[in-house]
Amino acid sequence: MHDWKLPWSGGCRCGRIRFEVTKPPLMAAACHCRGCQKMSSSAFSLSLTMPSDGFAVTDGEPVIGGLHGPTHHYFCWYCKTWMFTRPEGFDFVNLRPSMLDEHGWFAPFIEVWTAEKLPWAATGAVHSFETEPEFSSYQGLMQEYAESGARPA
Ligand SMILES: [Zn+2]
Ligand SMILES: [Zn+2]
Repeated sequence: MHDWKLPWSGGCRCGRIRFEVTKPPLMAAACHCRGCQKMSSSAFSLSLTMPSDGFAVTDGEPVIGGLHGPTHHYFCWYCKTWMFTRPEGFDFVNLRPSMLDEHGWFAPFIEVWTAEKLPWAATGAVHSFETEPEFSSYQGLMQEYAESGARPA
């Protein structure tokens, strides 16, 4: 049940920024908030929450973009792909799973901010939240995800 077939490699659209993932993700999510709709140029964003020490940029220098606020949004300097997010004060990285070289296995386990979602948008997530889950429920959600979240085939 713990076979995540690590390590994973990935990169931006143009390939100038490359990274490696060496630890299992903690959560898989879709976010329907209006901010993510803008940033992703799409209906929702996708995230794999990775422990910081399980994620490393191996080639190139990503740059800060997005809101330039306490939530650091990282982009490729050349192709401007939104690759990952590091929230200040937390020890994790939210990686956009479509950056992975092999991401066909990805499925969101939770979806958040459905209050702002486009009426037709559906992700198949196991748990849906109008805004964010209660902070106290994250532990249980992460445990459930560790046991039954979608994995590489
Ligand atoms: Zn690029
Ligand atoms: Zn969002």
